[in-house]
Amino acid sequence: MVPEQLTKQFDHANKKTMIISAKTSLVGVLGNPINHSLSPTIHNAALQEMNLNWCYLAIPCTSENLETALKGLKVINCKGLNITIPHKIKALKYCTEISSIAQEVNAVNTLIPNKANGWTGDNTDVKGFLAPLISAKKYKYKNVLLMGCGGSAKAVIAGLIQLNVESIVVINRSKESLYTFLTDIDQNYIQNNCLSSKPKINGISLKDKDISEYIKNSDLIINATPIGMMSKDFDQKVPIDEKIWSNLKSGTTLYDLVYNPRPTKWLKIGVKKDCKVIDGLDMLIAQGAESLSLWSGIKDIPIKKMREAAELHFANIR
Ligand code: NDP
Repeated sequence: MVPEQLTKQFDHANKKTMIISAKTSLVGVLGNPINHSLSPTIHNAALQEMNLNWCYLAIPCTSENLETALKGLKVINCKGLNITIPHKIKALKYCTEISSIAQEVNAVNTLIPNKANGWTGDNTDVKGFLAPLISAKKYKYKNVLLMGCGGSAKAVIAGLIQLNVESIVVINRSKESLYTFLTDIDQNYIQNNCLSSKPKINGISLKDKDISEYIKNSDLIINATPIGMMSKDFDQKVPIDEKIWSNLKSGTTLYDLVYNPRPTKWLKIGVKKDCKVIDGLDMLIAQGAESLSLWSGIKDIPIKKMREAAELHFANIR
């Protein structure tokens, strides 16, 4: 590679070049898998618009290496990190400070370097999750079915509590993680009396029960698993199995946290059944903009540029 190629990064959204120099700082996202991530695309578009000499990278990191990676990135003066699948819960224990919302959710998606030479854990997924729901005209939901109980599902629960839904049924593949998840929610919200009105929250292990009735009776169904995501294990799959979605009622809202591919196979089924569908792109942009604001201290984040960069990415792969 010639030196010029090494020092210039082409920005597709703006058709300008972003110069990486000796003064460029690092920001990025840690996860596994990470190849599907659109975060570098939207963040680098925003950084260029903001004239910030930072570069955002997708950094593959296994669970075993998470602690070492976080320590190393802190030492080399990384300006901020996003944390994604499957590290949002584990990363909590490597934070020396934790924001109140991250304590409530008990998961982090944003790390900010602090003066005590450690990371402050925060969570912008709650705001991100709510963004497309509260911008829609109708966002009064009663009965919610939530698939998955990992790090992002915790933020979804916090968001649903803010929306004052009446009941939430959480379904998951493994009984053990479902039990831990429900115990955690019980301790965080119910025992601490954090709620003015309490939604009824129940858990169902997929091995134990047929969930057809819940699909029929829910007005909002959320996929917080990676199923459907563009990666070798999940691409072109639908949560649970295809047959069960014949129970969908028209008018039900399907919200897939997965944003790549766009739309996912599950959302295509929803469109055919006359459901309202929301993909994960609005959430990605809203949580990303909030993270960037926390790292930079700048309130006015160029959200429009972030969206343009994402739309262009999808237009180019069509
Ligand atoms: P986690 O690893 O923390 O949790 C994954 C959840 O999915 C667990 O409940 C797990 O179940 C379940 N799961 C994983 N694999 C399978 C499988 N093969 N079959 C059935 N269930 C499975 O991940 P996150 O919560 O961090 O992320 C989940 C998804 O949400 C990812 O695709 C991520 O990219 C997306 N996301 C999108 C965001 C956005 O901004 N749009 C923000 C946050 C997340 P079990 O307990 O049995 O292992």
